Amino acid sequence: MSTKRIPFFNYKFFYENYRDEILAITDDILKRGAFILQQDTRDFEQHIADYLGVKYALSVANCTDGLEIALKATGITSGDEVIFPSHTFVATASAIHSNGAVPVPVECKKDHLIDPQAIEMAITDNTKAIIPVQLNGRTCDMDTIQRIADKHQLLIIEDAAQGLGSAFKNKKAGSFGLAAAISFYPAKILGCLGDGGIVLTDDDSVADRVYEIRDHGRSREGHMVGWGRNSRLDNLQAAILNRLFQDYDRVITRRRTIAAIYQEHLSHIDDLVLPPAPDSDPNHFDVYQNYEIESSYRDALEKHLNENGIGTLRQWGGITVHQMSALGLTKKLPFTEQMIARSLLLPMNLSITNEEIHYVCHKIEYFYENLIHFQPKNKNLSIENI
Ligand SMILES: *Cc1c(COP(=O)(O)O)cnc(C)c1O
Repeated sequence: MSTKRIPFFNYKFFYENYRDEILAITDDILKRGAFILQQDTRDFEQHIADYLGVKYALSVANCTDGLEIALKATGITSGDEVIFPSHTFVATASAIHSNGAVPVPVECKKDHLIDPQAIEMAITDNTKAIIPVQLNGRTCDMDTIQRIADKHQLLIIEDAAQGLGSAFKNKKAGSFGLAAAISFYPAKILGCLGDGGIVLTDDDSVADRVYEIRDHGRSREGHMVGWGRNSRLDNLQAAILNRLFQDYDRVITRRRTIAAIYQEHLSHIDDLVLPPAPDSDPNHFDVYQNYEIESSYRDALEKHLNENGIGTLRQWGGITVHQMSALGLTKKLPFTEQMIARSLLLPMNLSITNEEIHYVCHKIEYFYENLIHFQPKNKNLSIENI
């Protein structure tokens, strides 16, 4: 088989596919001079609110801002401890930190989502909130997390940056807890042409606060009601998102098909830990923002795939938040540390063809059938050794 070039993510793909429509939308917005908090933005917010079944969707400049504003709007303040999974983007923690609160990282479990038992063990008198992260396009077991939150009177703020369209027991990510935030960063499943995010809530007063904070402390009536900041989604991005969102169901179906192909071809390799297969658990509907596998030979497998033209990625650059020493969150989380040393993201995006996925699978099978005898295992060895 000849060598192919399969990028991990093809940032030019959308323009190549939607060029005429994007140019027409841009032309329309520029002609209308409709740049900030205009009708397209309100339409987009309504589409997302309807889709998730939440009362309020308020767009912001990016999801990091969304989380930070959601925490502020729900009253998280200086000295409050907020529990989150260390296996997340640093933005989850920085949103806590920038409110003066204390980020408390905890372990994930086998499916890479926050471990409810670890949440319970991390609760102190100062704990105020939990941020479950709907990672890799999968929603956490929100029943268990809600029970813990109720028992200890904690708020839930969801980081659903990677979760748009995923569900737990038919309830969508972004619709749990007091507030949530979703990202439209270009590589996210619904990605715009730059930065974008949205805050979700059912709560009237939280919605008012989010509305005010994102727009300089101005109320819906235009009155100054407190300190705010500027964090608004550009109306041009909203207009483009309105177009892309029309195809969203098809996008999710395609990603689930890709996951099913990976599952079919890779599940026989004992050493690999694959994400849960689509429909393997009736409680979960996964949308596969990422396809994160684990291998005892991660470094060698990564090198082999890259040498064969296949783009892969180490999520978060290969370290989780509590391991980023500059942040000072000193803690030992052995399961998470072992998982991230074994973790690799395979290509999972709309530009990849079935033939290309088969090529990726073939190269992985070849690695396990012919090459592993000469390869060092990753230092943290296999999952059974925990
Ligand atoms: C992408 C991401 C964010 C941040 O989103 P931005 O829109 O880039 O600010 C936060 N949390 C997680 C889990 C993410 O993947």
